[in-house]
Amino acid sequence: MYKAKSEGRRRVTFFTRGMQEAADLRTRLSNELRSALQETQFALHYQPIIELATGNIFKAEALIRWFHPKHGLVSPAAFIPIAEDTGLIHEIGDWAFHEVLRMIQCWQARHKHPVQIALNMSPVQFRHVVGHRHWLDALKQHAMEGGQLVLEITEGLLIDNDQQVQQQLLAFREAGIQIAIDDFGTGYSALSYLKRFNIDYLKIDRSFVMNLAEESTDLALCEAMVVMAHKLGLKVIAEGVETDQQRLLLKAIGCDFAQGYLFSRPIPADEFKDKFG
Ligand code: C2E
Ligand code: MG
Ligand code: MG
Repeated sequence: MYKAKSEGRRRVTFFTRGMQEAADLRTRLSNELRSALQETQFALHYQPIIELATGNIFKAEALIRWFHPKHGLVSPAAFIPIAEDTGLIHEIGDWAFHEVLRMIQCWQARHKHPVQIALNMSPVQFRHVVGHRHWLDALKQHAMEGGQLVLEITEGLLIDNDQQVQQQLLAFREAGIQIAIDDFGTGYSALSYLKRFNIDYLKIDRSFVMNLAEESTDLALCEAMVVMAHKLGLKVIAEGVETDQQRLLLKAIGCDFAQGYLFSRPIPADEFKDKFG
């Protein structure tokens, strides 16, 4: 029934064994997610973000990992949607936020230059009745600068022009927290939201970076995104940079920052501090 509905209703869909298995897996994972939180089976890994002009590393993105006692590493792509459906995303998000605060303090203690960590936020997190005032209180309590934190959101969140979303974004901004648009270019291409919201970074999606080559359409698109962003006073981060050729092309078109396997995979906090601290 759900498959028929999701494919546009008014149709017949045959039930398959694969669908039963997928549904069972979902139910099992959602039960297990609850205990994962209690037993802290989560960890944040960090991927450095490199300033292309200088090679400096003062930024990183936090990416959540779930170490399942039986199945090993479960990808966020597999469990974040379930966490969203069950509402567990709010608790997971709070946990991740506090981890990031701790990491910023540790990393900053080793660095002279101000460091910044980006945390991903799902649109569902913005719909929580409780809001995020407690995050701002925690920042104050730790006497931390909001500017050390970036929140990564996706274009879809800004399209609806939702009051609750707007108020929360405003409160984050007033606390000095910066905002990045993740996976830029893959969403709705309704650029008008760039006028309405103060955004700090555009993150060019990996799908544009993957096949970058001289005179390619993807290079033209990346260059257009960089020019547009700079005209609007935004900085650009390219995602999924895997080769030196991609790095050089991005640098040549004036892209500000890059992250990807070329520089480092996302790695555990301790390893990150040893390598980049
Ligand atoms: P994202 O924020 O767009 O993160 C980028 C993804 O690309 C990450 O996958 C990262 O490991 C991967 N990646 C980085 N460099 C490369 C590269 O050079 N090549 C390739 N092929 N991949 C690269 P990951 O860690 O599996 O995360 C997937 C998505 O899960 C993230 O996409 C983000 O939307 C979501 N996510 C991760 N952590 C959190 C979190 O703490 N909270 C929320 N709400 N969502 C999260
Ligand atoms: Mg991200
Ligand atoms: Mg992305």
